[in-house]
Amino acid sequence: MPYEVRRDFIGYGASPPDPQWPGGARLAVNFVINYEEGSEPSFALGDGVTENGLTESHGLNQVKSGRDLAAEGMFEYGSRVGFWRLHRLFQERGLPLTIFGCGMALEANPEAAAAIRKAGYDICSHGWRWVKHFELSEAEEREHIRRAFESLSKTVGRPDGWYCRYGPSVNTRRLVVEHGGFLYDSDYYGEELPFWVTVDGKAQLVVPYSLTNNDGKYAGWMGTSDQWFSYIRDAFDMLYAEGAKTPKMMSVGLHMRLIGHPARAVGLQRLLDTMMQRKGVWITRRVDIAKHWVATHPYPGKGLNE
Ligand SMILES: [Zn+2]
Repeated sequence: MPYEVRRDFIGYGASPPDPQWPGGARLAVNFVINYEEGSEPSFALGDGVTENGLTESHGLNQVKSGRDLAAEGMFEYGSRVGFWRLHRLFQERGLPLTIFGCGMALEANPEAAAAIRKAGYDICSHGWRWVKHFELSEAEEREHIRRAFESLSKTVGRPDGWYCRYGPSVNTRRLVVEHGGFLYDSDYYGEELPFWVTVDGKAQLVVPYSLTNNDGKYAGWMGTSDQWFSYIRDAFDMLYAEGAKTPKMMSVGLHMRLIGHPARAVGLQRLLDTMMQRKGVWITRRVDIAKHWVATHPYPGKGLNE
């Protein structure tokens, strides 16, 4: 039987495995920058629309025909300004980062790509460009995955993982496994620890992601950096307390055109300093979580709940 994505309402349930994080850490924290600016739908790319998702306008005042220059500028702020502010906050503290990179976006900014390589941030492919993978044919999707891998390999280094913009298709995971170049994928939101699935007889590691611990909240209902800080810190406190018995991982997703603005970056700064003061927190790259899982929890011959 060819691989089909199965729904699973059980997961690890009441007895999640002990991740055995390095140094006996109670929590593994992974910060992700979604590097997307320049790959979004635009007139320049022949899409006939201007994307304004996760910007200050978030759906308001959308231009119905012709270029939306306001939205274009809000995207460009992310790569021109926001990236450098976030990069500085992490570099000043000696902290690692993961880049969810869109191939086309990183080609558009060689200076940022060079800084990412120099800093040693790890790369998870966020696609060749913003496209709804679930609207692509299987052949088109295969080609998008190949192009993303090759583009990122040239600009920032070989991507270790895969994570779709908008949402995966029913074929995505199978095509990622078929490609063979990725250690893991992050196209899942329903778990707090990595887990294995079997795809056409092959082991595939899933490192789940979160849109909850994410600055995307700023594009909806969240106002000040105090609100964002206390919201994410509450998640951190809960997981840290639980981590005395059942350690977990925490992904924090960031966007340069959102939290890269000064009024919001201040909340991120406070969050980093708060986490760094706590003992037993492993702030790490996504690839290091994946490699740790492969080494300490190797594929047992079948996927979770198979
Ligand atoms: Zn994204």
